[in-house]
Amino acid sequence: MVKNQHLDIDIQNFPNMCRACLQLGDVKPLINSKITTTLKSITNIEIVADDNLPKNLCYYCIKQLEEISVFAETFKTNDARLEEFWS
Ligand SMILES: [Zn+2]
Repeated sequence: MVKNQHLDIDIQNFPNMCRACLQLGDVKPLINSKITTTLKSITNIEIVADDNLPKNLCYYCIKQLEEISVFAETFKTNDARLEEFWS
């Protein structure tokens, strides 16, 4: 068993571990999911199939990601509208 005591991360838990909050529980796979595109645009971190790290997000973190994604889109859209105001 590979274990990092300091962070209390256990590789055996990776299949059920959220990549974001590291909690165990109900998780959704990231590979082949459009969540990875959103995650990359927000965090600039790419989830790749062979990096030996957890490849899931829990539903709480997915919700947070969706909310920040909506915020970012709203901000960008309205920023463009404000820029047009003076042009
Ligand atoms: Zn999570």
